[in-house]
Amino acid sequence: MSEAAQEKETMNFQTEAKQLLQLMIHSLYSNKEIFLRELIANASDAIDKLRFEALSDASLLSEDSDFRIRVDIDKDLRTITITDNGVGLTRDEAVTHLGTIAKSGTSQFFESLTGDQQKDAQLIGQFGVGFYSAFIVADQVTVESRSAHAPVEDSVRWISRGEADFEVENISRETRGTSVTLHLKTDEDEFLDSWRLKNIVKKYADHLSVPVLMEKEVMGAEDDETDNDKPEFETVNDAKALWLRSRSEVSDEEYQEFYKHVAHDWQDALTWSHNKVEGKLEYTSLIYVPGKAPFDMWSREAPRGLKLYVQRVFILDDAEQFLPLYLRFVKGVLDSADLSLNVSREILQQDPNVTSMKNALTKRVLDALEKLAKSDGEKYQLFWNEFGQVLKEGPAEDFNNKEKVAALLRFTTTTSEGQDQTQSLDDYISRMKEGQEKLYYVTADHYGTASSSPHLEVFERKGIEVLLLHDRVDEWLMSHLTEYDGKQFQDVARATLDLGDLADEEEKEAQEAAEKENEALVERVKAALEDKVQEVRISHRLTDSPGCLVTGDDEMGMQMRKMLESAGQAVPDAKRIFELNPNHPLVERLDAEQEESRFSELAMILYDQSALAEGTQLEEPAVYVQRINKLLLELSS
Ligand code: ADP
Repeated sequence: MSEAAQEKETMNFQTEAKQLLQLMIHSLYSNKEIFLRELIANASDAIDKLRFEALSDASLLSEDSDFRIRVDIDKDLRTITITDNGVGLTRDEAVTHLGTIAKSGTSQFFESLTGDQQKDAQLIGQFGVGFYSAFIVADQVTVESRSAHAPVEDSVRWISRGEADFEVENISRETRGTSVTLHLKTDEDEFLDSWRLKNIVKKYADHLSVPVLMEKEVMGAEDDETDNDKPEFETVNDAKALWLRSRSEVSDEEYQEFYKHVAHDWQDALTWSHNKVEGKLEYTSLIYVPGKAPFDMWSREAPRGLKLYVQRVFILDDAEQFLPLYLRFVKGVLDSADLSLNVSREILQQDPNVTSMKNALTKRVLDALEKLAKSDGEKYQLFWNEFGQVLKEGPAEDFNNKEKVAALLRFTTTTSEGQDQTQSLDDYISRMKEGQEKLYYVTADHYGTASSSPHLEVFERKGIEVLLLHDRVDEWLMSHLTEYDGKQFQDVARATLDLGDLADEEEKEAQEAAEKENEALVERVKAALEDKVQEVRISHRLTDSPGCLVTGDDEMGMQMRKMLESAGQAVPDAKRIFELNPNHPLVERLDAEQEESRFSELAMILYDQSALAEGTQLEEPAVYVQRINKLLLELSS
């Protein structure tokens, strides 16, 4: 390091860091004590890092291997100091790590802010409040640190008043690790009370494996205090990694507290599953389903996965190899006895043990969700509203668990009150009509388009329930989900509408008769629409609409087509099948039209309307409008 760099310097916070700092100070006032959780978590992470580095360089432990965190109060100076003997920070690290935010999704985070303090406070919580939370209660924060890789005289002091800039200078520090000293704001005296502070430490640090020490209150100490009295310290937390305790020893509150620690969330988890596996593979897993989707759930770079430990030594954050992508919302820890301590992300990708654990953990999550759905429908609905869209990726990604995932899906159906997705496939099956063999569904890109689709008319007439799929991913989902519970799915907008035993003989005869009777009409419409359609035919699915478009059985569905087109992919043209309802007055009127050019105009209008009714964009909307306007003018003349 150059001489100049060793001097005292004043530097500016990165703009985002400044913004976050301000937000934090002004939005998180309602739960101030979390600063201690964050700082103790950082201290514990620093110790984990040192332990991890010591696996390959044992000399790091020669100086001090008695890992611990200490929390000291100085009532006179009005400070709280959190000290760890972890990996520490160099001067450069202090400048970068404490002066900038390196997290992925930072810009997305700022974009998501609403200006509504309560909502933004939640977002900050999701983003991870971290070190800056110190400024919720402090008007000055001093960090002193010596990196495990730096000599005593290259230690650093970093000071900030929570404003635009901070100072750094070199100091000498005998001990390895970091101390963070908060000078409390005038109205934050409650945190100088050691009893209160111990309670907070207990609450947030019980599950950490490293002991947190605080000075022991000695009864009557004030009377016979002498200068020689050395303060005595006691361990305030349980100091046993929570996942190593047995389930019966851990309370729900402790599970929730631990969740907030691993997930950097500040709301409760919806459910969790804690398991110790012994046998061919030995590991302990504690997995949680969060209550809220993170703001960056759809971002490719968003961190996901479990915190990985090998024989209680922390190895990696965000080990994504243990869960499939469609369960990326799951948080938790995995402590394995079978992986090597120097395992890396690359090694994890190839290790067959990882695949076995991934399969087992996937089952555990799905089982936990199934259990939640059975035991607490309301909570499950919360889960579905937050993560349903992600779970819908399951059948495509995870062939083996298709059926299990399908059982967890929730839908709107033609019997639903509104557009909420609350019905399971089992619910649907329990209401199937006698003689119904298939699971019928319609897809559209809006609820309204699905629920008013002309394709539903025959089902309404027969009183058969249809699943209304109105999420963008639905058609893609259905292309991977062809059956459930031994029953086939059937898209009601497909050319072949197999109603099985639901169509009676009499009806079939009437249909054949209608087809014969209208052969000439069909031919004329075909001629009028020329190359626009693949086929024109008499419909058996319509009651109220004059016509509808259906898709060939093996062709790409309309929603999939739209999805690919909007992603900029070239999709081959495909002509539709145009079905006419011969009993509709407009079709009867069409049939009666003798004048050929007028006949084509009317046929075109019916065709375009059928496209509109299913939510498809017209190729030439202006031409359609002109045709309609012409008719309107004729009406009024
Ligand atoms: P996060 O912990 O989520 O990365 P923070 O804002 O809490 O974000 O901390 C920023 C960085 O500062 C940490 O990633 C770490 O590198 C460093 N840091 C914070 N506290 C300590 C500490 N006690 N010892 C060593 N490094 C620390």
